[in-house]
Amino acid sequence: MTVLFRPALFILFAFFLLSACKPGDRPQEKRTRFLMGTLVEISIPGPATARTEEASNLAFAEMARLEQMMSTHRPDSELSRVNDNAGGSFTPVSPELIEVVRRGLEWGERSQGALAMSLGPVVDLWHFDGESGPPPAGESLAQALTRVDESGIEIREQEIRLKRPGMKLDLGAIAKGFAVDRAIGVLASRGVKNALVNAGGDLSVLGRPSAEKAWRVGLQHPRKPEALVAAFDAEGIAVATSGDYQRYFLHEDVRYHHLLVPATGLPSRKLISATLVAKNAADADALATAVFVLGREKGLELIESLKNVEGMVIDASGEVGFSTGFKKLPGFEFRGYP
Ligand code: AMP
Ligand code: MG
Repeated sequence: MTVLFRPALFILFAFFLLSACKPGDRPQEKRTRFLMGTLVEISIPGPATARTEEASNLAFAEMARLEQMMSTHRPDSELSRVNDNAGGSFTPVSPELIEVVRRGLEWGERSQGALAMSLGPVVDLWHFDGESGPPPAGESLAQALTRVDESGIEIREQEIRLKRPGMKLDLGAIAKGFAVDRAIGVLASRGVKNALVNAGGDLSVLGRPSAEKAWRVGLQHPRKPEALVAAFDAEGIAVATSGDYQRYFLHEDVRYHHLLVPATGLPSRKLISATLVAKNAADADALATAVFVLGREKGLELIESLKNVEGMVIDASGEVGFSTGFKKLPGFEFRGYP
């Protein structure tokens, strides 16, 4: 039997941020939109005004624009045009798409291939967004893997080409974080000083909710959606988590999730979650996926090699690992696991 856990279901449980409002707290304006396959929340402290409403609407509109550019689910997106032209000519694309692909390539290199945007043909076989299981057959996986090749991604100033027919880019590991950064940029450009943008756990902040306290981020327990594993204050940072509980199906009691090892096309079994803290959400997002695939030892090694990046990983045996600075995040609190 196969059971699919659809993204829509997951979203109900995916609130990483506990912005518990106590009596006496300042009012907080919160708006949500369904974008990039998740519920995106923009919180701005203080009473809603025409100015903050306009700023939030523009931030959402920017995220919607990026989704329209980078989605593989939209046949008319720029990314779909690049994919449709695989093996053919260069496709003119927006600078944002070039930037995301460049950054994805860089994190792919720095993670020794744990992050691979060219996994598109393999991602498609798993159908994590539609029907569920059974897992793809060995031959079809092997066939799709022959079309996974980061060195086949060619970038020119304003255009991209995939060298071979059947290649396909999937930006699911990084685009959401990039969009969060851009939303924060839009809010700041409209004069908003304090805000939080949370796209299903990939989040970034501006300022703080009040003079007395910073934005508080809680990390969801991978197996108990209503519980937290850890919490900390977020100021001037972004946070992203990749977990085996976010998109998956069960087939004959085995969990098949959406975080794939590029070399095999199979779900990575080393970790059940990886949370990354970085200066921006695009890097946190890309690194969360890469570290999840790398596993505890290599993942933490990568994190330690990077400035201004911290991480927390939970491995398949339930052990929790931290980078040296993670527990030094302000207001850090470990609630325990399992
Ligand atoms: P995230 O939720 O940010 O960890 O990204 C997961 C999504 O990225 C998946 O749903 C796939 O679309 C894609 N993906 C899965 N495994 C990889 C990988 N190893 N490298 C790049 N993208 C991946
Ligand atoms: Mg990611």
